[in-house]
Formats: sequence, C-alpha cells, structure tokens
Amino acid sequence: MTAPRLVFLGPPGTGKGTQALRMSDRFGLTALSSGDTLRREIREDSPIGREAAGFVSAGELVPDAVITGIMLGAIGRLPAGAGFILDGFPRTVPQAESLDRGLTGRGIGLTGVIDFRLGDAEIVERIIHRRVCTKCGASYNERSAPPASPGVCDRCGAELTQRSDDREDVVVTRLSAYRRQTAPLVDYYTQRGLLHAVDAAAPAAQIEQELAAVIAAADRGA
Ligand code: AMP
Repeated sequence: MTAPRLVFLGPPGTGKGTQALRMSDRFGLTALSSGDTLRREIREDSPIGREAAGFVSAGELVPDAVITGIMLGAIGRLPAGAGFILDGFPRTVPQAESLDRGLTGRGIGLTGVIDFRLGDAEIVERIIHRRVCTKCGASYNERSAPPASPGVCDRCGAELTQRSDDREDVVVTRLSAYRRQTAPLVDYYTQRGLLHAVDAAAPAAQIEQELAAVIAAADRGA
C-alpha cells in the first residue's frame, strides 16, 4: 500500500485543519500543521518563535526559509514510509519547490493536493466565530458547530480559545496574503496532475466522505 502524502491547500477558515485531523484519525496519517507548529514555537519563546511572532500576529507569511526548515525537519523525523498531511504548507511557490526537492531527496513525492474553495465573506464569518483547542488543534464555530460543553474540546477535553490572529482586521491581511502569495500554487499543482478541488461550503461530514474517497482511489492508483 502506498502511504498517502498530501498537501491541504486553501485560505484560512476553510476547514483544512478539521479535515486533516479527521483524515489522520481515519487513515493513521500524521497531520503536520505549519500554523500550529509556529504557534507552539511562539508560546515557547524559542528563537524561531521570536522570529515568526511579528509576522503571525500581523497576518503575514513568515519568511520561506524559516517555515521550510521547520516543515522539512518535521517530515524528516517521520518513520520511513509514513503517510502525512501537510496543513498550511507550502504557501508560496518557493516553498513548494523546496518541498519537492526535500521529498525527492527521500525518494518520495506527494500523492495529492486538496484545494479547499470558499468565498471571502463566508471565510471571514467563519473565522471570527472560530474557537480552537490549544492542545489537539480541533476547531469549532461558536455559532454553527459549537462543542458539546461550552469552552471545552470534545476531542480531548482541553480548554478552547480564540486565536489572536482570528480578529477581523488581521483576517483581511491573511486573505490578501493568500490570494497574492499562495493562490499561484493552484496552477503549480494542477500542472503536476495532483490537484483535487473541494467545495468547502459543503457540510464537514460530506467533505470527509469525499476526501476519504480521493485518498482510497489514489491508493488503488485510480
Ligand atoms: P494558519 O494556522 O495556517 O492559519 O497559520 C497562521 C499563521 O502562521 C499565518 O498567518 C502565517 O503568519 C504563518 N504561517 C503558517 N504557515 C505558513 C507558511 N507555510 N508560510 C509562511 N507563513 C506561514
């Protein structure tokens, strides 16, 4: 069996993190979230965290070399043959090129790229009501998908918080960074025959079924 090696692409607030957790639970994959990794470095006040903090709080992308080093390092620590989902990385063409080189160096390549599509107005509406678990990364919406007990993660029982960059003014900057710097990756991966677009406005359970089918089909070489 070929282990799935996926990139989840798409603007913030489109459900990438939620689906990365669901697919990792379902298929035994490792979900590597670049945003969660950076937030952890910032919380720990590490040298990388100090370098990244200003960019993250302003909603801008951290420099390519910083995030590429972190993410290729994390991939390199996975056991040989492990399947993974990269959530939020790469976000620029140079990052995608570095990822390709890093994977080629390990004798592997991506098996698919999922492009989560959603309009800006819906994204802003979702993000400003988002609450996240600081422990396991699960995400909720206080209006449309609240946890069973207010403020408590259904998945691991830890406390939920609002991300400081989920404020509306920062979200606008994050969306413009996405359109300017990340959207070109849609062409990049289409040209390589890897892109599969999903309608992120669909219910999460429906998207989960669609992704599971895409992953299973890729495994059969369809
Ligand atoms: P996310 O949790 O994916 O929305 O990421 C939160 C923030 O982390 C982004 O707004 C960026 O500041 C930074 N970040 C995450 N991934 C990347 C990346 N691949 N390249 C540059 N910056 C990133």
